[in-house]
Amino acid sequence: MLRNRYSSYGEWLKRRFGGPVYKVSVDGGFTCPNRDGTVARGGCTYCSNDSFRALGVGAGKPVRQQIEEGIRFLSSRFDPRMFIVYWQHYTNTHGELETLRSRFEESLGVDDRIVGIAIGTRADCVEQPKLEMIRELAREKFVCLEYGLESARDETLERINRGHDFARYVEAVERTHALDLPVCAHVILGFPWESLSQMLEGAATLNRLGIDFVKVHHLHVLGNTALGQEYLRRPFKTFSLEEWVALVCDFIELLAPAIVIQRLFGWAPEHDLLAPRWGVHKSVVLQHIKNELVRRDSWQGKELGAARPEE
Ligand code: SF4
Repeated sequence: MLRNRYSSYGEWLKRRFGGPVYKVSVDGGFTCPNRDGTVARGGCTYCSNDSFRALGVGAGKPVRQQIEEGIRFLSSRFDPRMFIVYWQHYTNTHGELETLRSRFEESLGVDDRIVGIAIGTRADCVEQPKLEMIRELAREKFVCLEYGLESARDETLERINRGHDFARYVEAVERTHALDLPVCAHVILGFPWESLSQMLEGAATLNRLGIDFVKVHHLHVLGNTALGQEYLRRPFKTFSLEEWVALVCDFIELLAPAIVIQRLFGWAPEHDLLAPRWGVHKSVVLQHIKNELVRRDSWQGKELGAARPEE
């Protein structure tokens, strides 16, 4: 029986660092250029960044305190030996170069067990001097840039008020890769105006871009968003759990095996969520996906002709 039918981030981290690595989220108090008027106002129509705040993570607290509390929390439940600090909230390169440098350096220095940082940001907010500063940090520790792609279709990017087009995304990925920095792409499948085949084309796009990591999310509709208001006025179709499992397995089959998968579905707190409401724990969703790959006897990249992974 195959143990790993897709390249999972957890396994990748173990290989890279010699053991499990835990994520500690921080909120650096950044805003987003798509909300504060730099690019646009209102933000992406699906976005409710506060919904994704991990327990205890607060914009008001100093970064050091957030990290120390995150490490203490994880240590009370597990036996963690290594951490990656995840700069998760809003756009974490939306600031002055020296401010960014000192915040990232500070976060890397809070605890000897911190092996790296992941920086969530936008493709239109990584000017060259910022990337070069980040490359300096990457000489010592692991650093990954996370850029939301969401969709490779300009029509969709416009409809969701993304504030940049696909060409801008490609340009940022190429400049990031030119400095040997890895990129994690976020994609959303399920915009009601996209067909299933258009959603699946996203896998080929990621393959062509040579993306290093991916987070795949199903579209979920949150109450306090523009998309949520649209949904309340005129409900549209979202995926059932069964439909999502089938689609994401199709996506995995089309994804190059070299791309490491960090997420296979979205997550939102129940109290904010309008649809879809699957009513099951995250681990159950993941198990359904794994079971479906077993049922199909399938694996990442199978549709591209990728060899069956070793047992
Ligand atoms: S770029 Fe990110 S933080 Fe900004 S509005 Fe869009 S989803 Fe929200």
